[in-house]
Amino acid sequence: MHELSLVMNLLELCEAEASRGSFDRIDRIVLEVGELSGVSLPALRFSFDVAARGSVTESAVLEIREIPGRGWCLKCEETVPIREPLRECPACGSPVLLPTGGTEFRLCELVVRDRRMLEKSGKGER
Ligand SMILES: [Zn+2]
Repeated sequence: MHELSLVMNLLELCEAEASRGSFDRIDRIVLEVGELSGVSLPALRFSFDVAARGSVTESAVLEIREIPGRGWCLKCEETVPIREPLRECPACGSPVLLPTGGTEFRLCELVVRDRRMLEKSGKGER
């Protein structure tokens, strides 16, 4: 499944960040997913729920920002909204469209729990 491999890559990145940084838990992951990226959001969420178990992202909230699809119509010389890649222009019906937005799959933000901050706020040391 395409979505599962995207999630596995994402989790690897999170684990790498966690071992390099000073945090051991991730509270929130914000992704930007374009309408034209071909990623199924239900499949993405399902893959995340399964794959995140037992990792630093186990209790993380997955927030997905959908980016609307946009394409450049050569005939209208305008940016027009499209729902699928290589679709016709809604204004003139010309099939010549170059996607200009909505193809992204991007990690935007990781909200982490800082281990040092927690230790500082805890009572005493053992
Ligand atoms: Zn057009």
